[in-house]
Amino acid sequence: MIPRRESGKGDVQIEILFCGICHSDLHTVHNEWSGSGVPTVYPYVPGHEMVGRVTKVGSAVTKFKPGDLAAVGCMVDSDGTCPECQSGLEQYCSNMIATYNSPDGRLGGVTYGGYSGSIVVKERFVLRVHSNLDLAGAAPLLCAGITTYSPIRHWGVTKGKKVGVVGLGGLGHMAVKFAHALGAHVVVFTTSSNKKEDALRLGADEVVVSRNVDEMKKHAGSFDFILDAVSAEHDINVYIQLLRRDGNITLVGAPSKPLAVPAFSLIFGRHSLSGSQIGGIAQTQEMLDFCGKHNVTADVEVIPIQKVNEAYERLSKSDVKYRFSIDMASLKSR
Ligand code: NAP
Ligand code: ZN
Repeated sequence: MIPRRESGKGDVQIEILFCGICHSDLHTVHNEWSGSGVPTVYPYVPGHEMVGRVTKVGSAVTKFKPGDLAAVGCMVDSDGTCPECQSGLEQYCSNMIATYNSPDGRLGGVTYGGYSGSIVVKERFVLRVHSNLDLAGAAPLLCAGITTYSPIRHWGVTKGKKVGVVGLGGLGHMAVKFAHALGAHVVVFTTSSNKKEDALRLGADEVVVSRNVDEMKKHAGSFDFILDAVSAEHDINVYIQLLRRDGNITLVGAPSKPLAVPAFSLIFGRHSLSGSQIGGIAQTQEMLDFCGKHNVTADVEVIPIQKVNEAYERLSKSDVKYRFSIDMASLKSR
């Protein structure tokens, strides 16, 4: 059993029904980000894509009651007072507490994630999920969804824009759905030629197998925006060259090794390279409402917790269509 705090005045206790498996869970399991200042504290419990049902609320809670659907993503606390929090950008608060592997101010040690039967979270970090959505597919919206929705909104993706998505994994396939729903012309870049048909079905207008140099050249200087959702070391320069003047490429993928960026790739064409971290709470709710309205969920392979090691093996080989979602009822059948 992992410890969870007693639910306090401002807390919501949630029975977790589904939890997605993010590549960040896998990076953290293997302590791959220690060089970037985020060492893993073991024992470690992954999981930051949770959907469940409220079982108990504190006396000061106003937005939830027992029986409601609720969701929790990558953050469980922040100071609430800094300029970032005041702007609804809690993910950039220097005192943000991540759902796992962050200092736990109440119980001591570190926070434990959602591969678990229940969790207790401050109301401000609990989200609403629309009841028309498939819950297993809704869970990944809490990280893969918001992490792609946020930069897509920030960089003004809309009808008439040419948008690239690099890497058709959990994040990438959500980016395709959002950019398509917003009316952009979407091109997927993949290393997996067997994902071509899926990419088109998910909403891509074109698919390029990135190892095909001739195919890549056809798109030179043409993109307004490219979202790079690749989990491993790769050559980012080939994508910078595809940007038009003032085009932007945003990294959401977080490989552990640095990427080489030649200065002239950015200088010529006034290109910009940025990063983006998940999204704030208000925008996460906006994204969930957008998904409820447009019936958008992740494409998931639902697994019992007993298959988690097999799922990690497959995720490390880019072999998942397109997110694993753990059915937490399986925790009860050992
Ligand atoms: P994922 O499902 O494993 O998808 C990653 C995709 O990257 C793969 O499906 C594959 O797509 C491509 N890829 C993998 N290895 C590659 C290689 N060696 N060269 C080129 N392409 C490769 O992972 P995910 O859960 O979407 O997460 C993606 C990355 O985003 C991870 O690094 C994760 O930690 C990070 N992340 C960041 C944030 C944030 O706030 N910025 C939030 C969540 C996750 P193809 O088969 O199509 O080539
Ligand atoms: Zn994640």
